[in-house]
Amino acid sequence: MNNIQDEIKKFESSKCEENNVFYQAMEEVIFSIAPLLESDEKYARHAILDRLVVPDRIIKFKVTWLNDKNEIQVNTGYRVQFNNALGPYKGGLRFHPSVNEGILKFLGFEQIIKNSLTGLPIGGAKGGSDFDPKGKSNFEIMKFCSSFMVELHKYIGSRIDVPAGDIGVGSREIGYLFGEYKKITSSYEGVLTGKPFMFGGSLMRPQATGYGVVYFTQTMLEIEGKESLEGKTCTVSGAGNVALHAIEKLQEIGAIVVSCTDSRGTIHDPRGVDLCLLKEIKLQKRGSLEGYIRVYPEAKYIPFEEYPEGAHAVWDIPCYAAFPCATQNELTDIDAQNLIVNGCVSVSEGANMPSTHKAINDFLSHKICFAPAKAANAGGVIVSEFEMAQNASMSKWSFEKVDEKLKLAMQQIVKRVALTARDYGVEGNYVDGANIAGFKRVADAMIAEGI
Ligand code: NDP
Repeated sequence: MNNIQDEIKKFESSKCEENNVFYQAMEEVIFSIAPLLESDEKYARHAILDRLVVPDRIIKFKVTWLNDKNEIQVNTGYRVQFNNALGPYKGGLRFHPSVNEGILKFLGFEQIIKNSLTGLPIGGAKGGSDFDPKGKSNFEIMKFCSSFMVELHKYIGSRIDVPAGDIGVGSREIGYLFGEYKKITSSYEGVLTGKPFMFGGSLMRPQATGYGVVYFTQTMLEIEGKESLEGKTCTVSGAGNVALHAIEKLQEIGAIVVSCTDSRGTIHDPRGVDLCLLKEIKLQKRGSLEGYIRVYPEAKYIPFEEYPEGAHAVWDIPCYAAFPCATQNELTDIDAQNLIVNGCVSVSEGANMPSTHKAINDFLSHKICFAPAKAANAGGVIVSEFEMAQNASMSKWSFEKVDEKLKLAMQQIVKRVALTARDYGVEGNYVDGANIAGFKRVADAMIAEGI
């Protein structure tokens, strides 16, 4: 009986969360694009907003697989194909117990605007499963990925929908997914991005989002007349793909990164974090950050539960620039106040929607340079598109070529966003600039393509 009650409670709470994050994302866009809608009635006449907020289709399926004890496990898989006005559906797959339809709708909706902002021919989608990769053996991960693809393969293709990685889905998982796709279809095509380099992956895909957010910030600070990141203290949250590569690029350009977080706690190392050790702990051993202070006892490890509710230790560390790179809603209004009081000049979102609505408003009203996720973390999808181009032409680009093209693409996004904000009377507001520029391109395509 208790179990059933627990299940009901779980369902109810996930239902709430489902609505919250999607509406949060939608509301932000709707408020932002008001000046565009007022200046041109064609968007209302073509009911663009009503059409854009409803996904083209939501595919939901059962994934059954055997664990290492030969017990049958059941998970739910999803693919939200949101909008393909600009190109094939494109967006990551997330494997995490919190995954539900609402979270994927929020991520897919954001992806439409983000992909549009890149100026590249890609539509918006997102997918994943409530499967928890934590604690699973390599073999279990492989078996889950195979079962997941048995269903997903019916809906994807290099000209239809090209998934990539996200939380819980890295090159290992993409490799297994690709292997199964190939086995089922006998087709060797660029149907997934984020593949290992040896069979069609692009150089620099793992680095792309983290490096991209730093390139974005450098250009934004320059445009806004602020000092560069060189020699400045920076705080980063997360210790996954995005965070580790943001740290790598920040260190490369001479910034001092003093923090990172995982789902259990925060590391604060005022001398600058040891990236090699972080990679060893998080990528090779897949362990907890607590291991860091065993090597550097003078650094601090702060478990989440030791911090007041609604605040996070990482955002209470004085810094010049902050980079939330872990997960959604990890930076609250209390955190925003702490950053502002401590003199932070710029906040760049590496993760998807890490700052709450109120936190963003606080940053904007205090004239903090704020780089929203849909613009700042577009580096990943940009290099994914480069991977599609390389696969289609059976070619391989050098690391330097990809890096150069990524840097240029990120700089172009910053300029596009800044100019759009200026043109619509909200100079310096990169949230509105990104929403208007991203919405406009996809909306104009939808109008041109008819209903
Ligand atoms: P990973 O799974 O590689 O890493 C996520 C990291 O965040 C992990 O270290 C995880 O800890 C940590 N984390 C999870 N929850 C929390 C929390 N509540 N507080 C603090 N830390 C937490 O994911 P990615 O780095 O790929 O993605 C991170 C974010 O960036 C996501 O929002 C994703 O959607 C977004 N993003 C990713 C892109 C990519 O190319 N990978 C592209 C664009 C956006 P633990 O190690 O304990 O699990």
